Amino acid sequence: MNKKILFLLSFFVTIIFFALSVKTLYAQDVQCPTEGNTSTCTTQVGEGSVESPETNPPELPPNNTNSPLNLPDICSTISQGPYQGPSHQNLLAWDFAVPRGTPVYSTFAGTVTRTGQYQGTCKWSKNDNYDKWCSPTEKYGIWIEIQRSDGVFARYAHFTPESIAKIQSLSKVSEGEFIGWVDSTGLSTGNHLHYQLSDISVVPDAIKACQ
Ligand SMILES: [Zn+2]
Repeated sequence: MNKKILFLLSFFVTIIFFALSVKTLYAQDVQCPTEGNTSTCTTQVGEGSVESPETNPPELPPNNTNSPLNLPDICSTISQGPYQGPSHQNLLAWDFAVPRGTPVYSTFAGTVTRTGQYQGTCKWSKNDNYDKWCSPTEKYGIWIEIQRSDGVFARYAHFTPESIAKIQSLSKVSEGEFIGWVDSTGLSTGNHLHYQLSDISVVPDAIKACQ
């Protein structure tokens, strides 16, 4: 076998090996991450694959702890309770101070009746030296209201901007369904979930245990 044939043979073997490697790479069924929607992932599309931002709202497994937050002890995270000042004076509402990005879950099944998408942070008073006042529609930042068939509703507020796609994808929500992530949008001075109810009859057991 002369050198020319040997060279051509090794050349073709290299080409075949390369082609097989590429085919194997594209054939892999790479799963997109289920948490977060700002990362990129590789999904199989047709015979090839594309690198694309994950734009679909993620699906987290349902929470069965009868709580808006899947945490072992949410009572210790309460920074402001119902009918307490300054912002809950007339509200059956709790603030749970937890890290940004903590998943939030609906505590009962219902229909999405209202949402808000204000992404900034604001305060009520100019005297606070903040750039912006909160209007009533801005105070909850990015938020969602879920109403039962009997009219009782819950509001979950101060979500991350990444939650907008999620809340816009929801119309009917089941109990324990993931609805967004904790942040500090709207009338807020730190990362927390504002959880508000229109009726005391639907206070989750996990929160009743705090009182
Ligand atoms: Zn609050």
